[in-house]
Amino acid sequence: MKKNNQKVFLPQTLKPIDIQEEKGYAEKDSLNNGIEEQQLILRGEEIASLLRQKGLQSPIVNVQLEKERQTKVEAIKYHFQKILQALELDTTDPGLHETPLRVAKLYVDELCSGLNPDQFPKCTTFPMQESSIVFQKDIPFSSLCMHHFLPFTGHVHIGYKSNGKILGLSKLNRVVNYFSRRPQVQELLNKQIYTVLQAILDTEDVFVRIEGSHSCIHVRGVNQQGTKTISQEAGGVFKDPVYLGQYFHKM
Ligand SMILES: [Zn+2]
Repeated sequence: MKKNNQKVFLPQTLKPIDIQEEKGYAEKDSLNNGIEEQQLILRGEEIASLLRQKGLQSPIVNVQLEKERQTKVEAIKYHFQKILQALELDTTDPGLHETPLRVAKLYVDELCSGLNPDQFPKCTTFPMQESSIVFQKDIPFSSLCMHHFLPFTGHVHIGYKSNGKILGLSKLNRVVNYFSRRPQVQELLNKQIYTVLQAILDTEDVFVRIEGSHSCIHVRGVNQQGTKTISQEAGGVFKDPVYLGQYFHKM
């Protein structure tokens, strides 16, 4: 500790509070007037690059991302109209007339918005010298199965042990939302959230579990309502089931 009256941001209030030297919470390591905000913020392109290096990126053709939104909407509208016509539906019917445009906007603006690196949330971390454990349970998600283009939904549970950095709690939800907004398989969604949180938080000690319910299981073939798919990634201290159980299974 070098100075009195150091400031640290608490994740829930995001307001600076004064910390006395002898309490030893924060170590000032920057030259930015006492504001302890970490300067390394990974942008969407860097996140995409990290996932590509690890073979975990979704199959995105980069050049397509440069297309204007309106171009994508028009293309999908045109082709979805062809799908309806191939099914021998009357696309002049009032109930179907606007469907191709509705579907196009749904895909571009919502279900596939996480294909665009610019949509990756700004994940500022804050220093926390004392180690702390955070578990956030039941983060809802809604994604799209890449094999059938049908929704899969459920909840994500995230835990991490801080290694000098903490993340605003709502950012965990935003990271989940970003990666779920692309055609996915649950296992890859799980690995993407896990890998990116490890990078942002600069620690191996991350745990991500997803409980998903897949429409393609429910509506096709075997028609198994109520089936749940569980996937899990655990790193660092959370590889130890006893350690993990102390926190996760008691919640
Ligand atoms: Zn599927």
